[in-house]
Amino acid sequence: MRQSERIRGLTGGGSDGWDVFLKARRMIAQGIAVTELTIGEHDVRTAAPILQEMHRTAIGGHTGYAAVPGTASLRDTVAARVQARTGVPTTRDNVVITPGGQAALFAAHMAACDPGDTALYIDPYYATYPGTLRGAGAVPQAIRTRAEDAFQPRAEALRAHSANAVSLLINTPNNPTGVVYSDATLNVVAEICREDDLWLISDEVYDTQVWEGRHVSPRALPGMAERTLVVGSMSKSHAMTGSRCGWIVGPEAVIADLITLATHTTYGVPGYIQDASEFALTRGERFEAEIAAPFRRRREIAREVIARQNTVGLIPAQGAMYLMLDVRATGMTGEAFAYDLLDTHRIAVMPGESFGASAAGHIRVAMTIEDAAFRQALETLCRHAERRAA
Ligand code: PMP
Repeated sequence: MRQSERIRGLTGGGSDGWDVFLKARRMIAQGIAVTELTIGEHDVRTAAPILQEMHRTAIGGHTGYAAVPGTASLRDTVAARVQARTGVPTTRDNVVITPGGQAALFAAHMAACDPGDTALYIDPYYATYPGTLRGAGAVPQAIRTRAEDAFQPRAEALRAHSANAVSLLINTPNNPTGVVYSDATLNVVAEICREDDLWLISDEVYDTQVWEGRHVSPRALPGMAERTLVVGSMSKSHAMTGSRCGWIVGPEAVIADLITLATHTTYGVPGYIQDASEFALTRGERFEAEIAAPFRRRREIAREVIARQNTVGLIPAQGAMYLMLDVRATGMTGEAFAYDLLDTHRIAVMPGESFGASAAGHIRVAMTIEDAAFRQALETLCRHAERRAA
């Protein structure tokens, strides 16, 4: 039996960019100590009070099928949060709860795109994006950006493809670059979406991790609420990656269709996970700032370490849990540098190329280990780059 073309073609063929990561994992399995700066997972686990709430509500009986769109009270909580943060009137009818941001990205493209439609996304990109778009039947088209522009998309690059496209996916604060889109970038994005009648799919899963500038949800820009689907998640803001709880916020009619899609695909999110998520969301901004604090601190450490040398360049680290480092001065590709660093110093980072051609000659560092070890790893990384550049 042969599987469908759709599923066989999901990754687009070739390497899916995880080779260095997998090599690091194999070394760890062999008992070799590797400093892991690859994936975006907090070094703290979900806070005990959230787990206690999960336990309380599960023991209390919320273990049957939960309401497919999400519980009314979680949808209300998400709507109130979004309205408070953006000023855009939002009710539970604008919200569907999904099994994490990843499922929300897929569902949003199912709602926006028909098979064969062109779906735009910005390179460098979160590694799952092209496969997610293909999975929804769309034809992914990358929009290239440049390190010199801090990887913010230019109007001309967007306009080169926007007339023939149906949707545009953006992500700010950005994984993998750590950049927060400027007001100017978001205004251009919104203008092009309005002019060329595009859906804007706005991945805002890092919206509580902003170190510089401010997070603007493009749904709040003029004429955008009717064409924007916002993807949110509990994963990064509340250290709940394993709980798989996220959402889409959008126009009522689209949300109604997305609820139908949920009925025929996921059939909702466990009730006790939703209750715990609601509880977590009502912990308030102080709690969210605590979850974000380690990354804020380590970003300062990184700026200090990198300012003391001039081989490795730092793309403005404005948000999210990553640094994008320019290692082009070594003359190596990001991938070659990442393998070399792993083999020589047992430090694992992601090659920029794993996130698209625009990030060639760069590496992504996840700020997900304890401060002193993080500082030491970065110092070693910089010295290594200096030696290779010499
Ligand atoms: N979007 C981006 C940019 C991400 O980095 C991630 C997770 N790394 C997700 C979406 C999906 O997160 P989750 O499914 O855990 O909500």
